[in-house]
Amino acid sequence: MSAPDAIPLVNLKRQYASLREEIDRAFAPVLASQHFIRGPAVRAFETAWLKALGAAHGSGCSNGTSALALALEALGVGRGDEVITTTHTFIATAEAIRHVGATPVFVDIEPASYTIDPAAMAAAVTSRTRALIPVHIYGTAAGMDDILALAARHDLAVVEDAAQAHLGRYRGRMLGTLGDAGTFSFYPGKNLGAYGDAGFVVARDAAVADRISRLLDHGRASKYLHDMVGWNHRMDDLQAAVLSVKLARLEAWTETRRQRAADYAARLKPRGFKLVEPLPGSEPVWHLFVVEASNRDETVAALQAAGIGCGVHYPVPLHLQPAFTGCGQARGSLPVTERIAGRILSLPLCPELTPAELDRVCEVFLAVARP
Ligand SMILES: *Cc1c(COP(=O)(O)O)cnc(C)c1O
Repeated sequence: MSAPDAIPLVNLKRQYASLREEIDRAFAPVLASQHFIRGPAVRAFETAWLKALGAAHGSGCSNGTSALALALEALGVGRGDEVITTTHTFIATAEAIRHVGATPVFVDIEPASYTIDPAAMAAAVTSRTRALIPVHIYGTAAGMDDILALAARHDLAVVEDAAQAHLGRYRGRMLGTLGDAGTFSFYPGKNLGAYGDAGFVVARDAAVADRISRLLDHGRASKYLHDMVGWNHRMDDLQAAVLSVKLARLEAWTETRRQRAADYAARLKPRGFKLVEPLPGSEPVWHLFVVEASNRDETVAALQAAGIGCGVHYPVPLHLQPAFTGCGQARGSLPVTERIAGRILSLPLCPELTPAELDRVCEVFLAVARP
C-alpha cells in the first residue's frame, strides 16, 4: 500500500474517477452489440482521431509497436534494408525495424532537445538505407525540416514515431502527419491512453494506408479472401470506446500539461537544471517532464522515499541493450545519449497533478538534486 499522500508519476486512478460514468456509458453499446473487433466503435474513433490530426488516411491497430512495423512493411521496408533511428527511445522503435527483417542503425541526439540529430542521420546514410524513424521523444518534435530534406535527397521513407506526441505540432503541423507515415501508441500511460493496448498508423498515401488496413487484419481483401500474408494487429472496440471518451478531453489535458511543465521550469531552471529545450517550431505536449541531475540515482531514491513516483526514460541507450549487441555500435560511439542516460529523470506529470503536488515534488527534488 502506498502512503495516502503518494504522488504517482501518472495518476490514472484520479483520471478514471473523473471519467467513470462516461466510460460506463461508452462501454454499454459495445457490450450490447457484442461487436468487439474493428466494429462501429473502432470506426468512430478512427474518424475522430484522423479529424483531430487533420489527416486523411489511417487505421487503429493493436499497439504502438505494431503500428511501426505495419508502417515499415507497407512502405516496402524489409530484409537487407537499413533504417536509421535514435538510440534514445523506447526499445519498441527498434524492435519494429527488426520485426520486418530490417536492421536498425542508431544515431545520437541533440543535447538541447534530446531529439535525433539530423546531421548524424545524414552521416549514417548508406546505399542500403531505406527509411528514417525520427521519434518525437517526450512529446517534443524532432527536427523535421532537416529530416524531410534528407529523406528527399536520398529517396528514403520517413516514419514518425509519435507514440509520445499526441496533438504535438511542428511549424503548425500535427506530429505524425509530416512523414510518409506516423504512428501512435495508446498504452494506458500515454497522453491519450486506452484501458489496455492500442495504437494507430497514419499514412500520407491512400494506397499505403489501404495496405496497412489489410496487413493488420490477416491480409484480408474480403471476409474469406487473403491477398497477402498479414498479421492480427487489430484494434478492439472496448479500447476505441475509451479512447473516444478521452479524445474529447485531450486538448484541455494537453493545455494543463503545458501549464504544469511551465510551472516546473519556472522553479528548476533558475536553479541551473538542464531541462528539455524544444527546437524552434516545436509545440510540445509534455508526455514526460525530464530534468538532468548529476546525482540522479540519489535524487530518484529521495523522491521515492518521499512517496513521489519518478522514472528514467531511458537509462540504457538502445545501442547498448543486450538485445542489440549485434548492431556493432560500441560504448562511446554515441556519447551525448550515453552521458545523459546517467543524468536524466522524469518527474510526475499528468493533467491530474495539482499545483500543490507539483510544489511538493519541487521541494523534495531541490533539497537533494544537483545540476
Ligand atoms: C510507448 C512507445 C512505443 C510502443 O508503444 P506500445 O503501444 O507500448 O507498443 C513506441 N515508441 C515510443 C517512443 C514509445 O514511447
